[in-house]
Amino acid sequence: MSQVTIPAPQVLLAEVTHRCPLQCPYCSNPTELIKKDTEISTTDWGRVFAEAADLGVLQVSISGGEPAARRDLTELIRAARDADLYVNLITSGIGLTQGRLDDLVEAGCDHIQLSLQDVDSDGAKLISNMDKSLERKLDFARWVRERSVPLTVNAVMHRLNLDRLPEIIELALELGARRLEVANVQYHGWAALNKQVLMPTQEQSSRTNQIVAEARESLNGRLLIDYVPVDHYAEYPKSCMNGWGRVALIVAPDGSVLPCHNATTLKHLSFPNVRDQSLTAIWYESSAFNAYRGDSWMPEICRSCDRKEIDFGGCRCQALAILGDASAADPVCSRAHPHSLVIATDESPQAGEVATSEQITYRPNS
Ligand code: SF4
Ligand code: SF4
Repeated sequence: MSQVTIPAPQVLLAEVTHRCPLQCPYCSNPTELIKKDTEISTTDWGRVFAEAADLGVLQVSISGGEPAARRDLTELIRAARDADLYVNLITSGIGLTQGRLDDLVEAGCDHIQLSLQDVDSDGAKLISNMDKSLERKLDFARWVRERSVPLTVNAVMHRLNLDRLPEIIELALELGARRLEVANVQYHGWAALNKQVLMPTQEQSSRTNQIVAEARESLNGRLLIDYVPVDHYAEYPKSCMNGWGRVALIVAPDGSVLPCHNATTLKHLSFPNVRDQSLTAIWYESSAFNAYRGDSWMPEICRSCDRKEIDFGGCRCQALAILGDASAADPVCSRAHPHSLVIATDESPQAGEVATSEQITYRPNS
């Protein structure tokens, strides 16, 4: 095995709580949510931010759940700023008043990323399981704009809202966003439980690729569009987290440190905690972060593949969930597996099918 060079991380995702007023059925939080009484303290987070900066991290994304569910959010933002990190707040916008927003901006919030479920009020309610969630988000976006804080709109896409992508792009422009993230649902955790309802048709997926390509061209210089296509219809997997333990690390609300959102599904790994170890030791020395670095863990088809430095063999959690082997090539990969592995015909929804709340497994608020 060749020696693996470990680069310093650039991004810290601080999941400060799993509590959230919304209940999206594709939420990236694990199906076993971390409870409030095991969340780490304001002081712990301050130490994490300082250690992250020492380690080389440049940007922290403070997320959740809904980070505003933490009363000390202003202190957390101030601590991250004091550590010289660029502070991006990822929020649903629900639970933040204008006064609280002023405090966050004064504490050093550099950028806000607002999640949007839909441009249609009923569609937003169906996904968030909250009345008027869209209207409240639009108010919040206006307040952000009035304070001249750079805004990204983050729209998670699926079968029930993909046909409204042109309107979502239009809304992002109206809200004054500089960047729009159009990310198709990743079918892990809660989303895997709702795959039947959320999985787009192949036709929707192809049309979306085209709409994004056209919008990128026509809006060049006005709106940056980051796009994550539906990987179940792709030829090759995406590079999950830009490679395991290469660029980013996630600190969960209880202080455990993860290489990706769904890493806790890999039960054969034990994830270190900032209560016990420094971030530096965790990043460079922990067996969990070293498990899928380099190529010695890869199956031969990946090890000898010209794409191994592009997708790093794809997603370990998806390999485990679908193939029962976390070290297998991502099941999406057409070089390694037949496509029928990832989209069984009974999961292929028909265009025009309408979903109801009874068909959805919502994540709980806490
Ligand atoms: S429930 Fe929705 S808004 Fe809340 S954290 Fe999950 S995806 Fe974000
Ligand atoms: S064989 Fe492995 S490295 Fe090559 S494209 Fe497929 S998943 Fe990626």
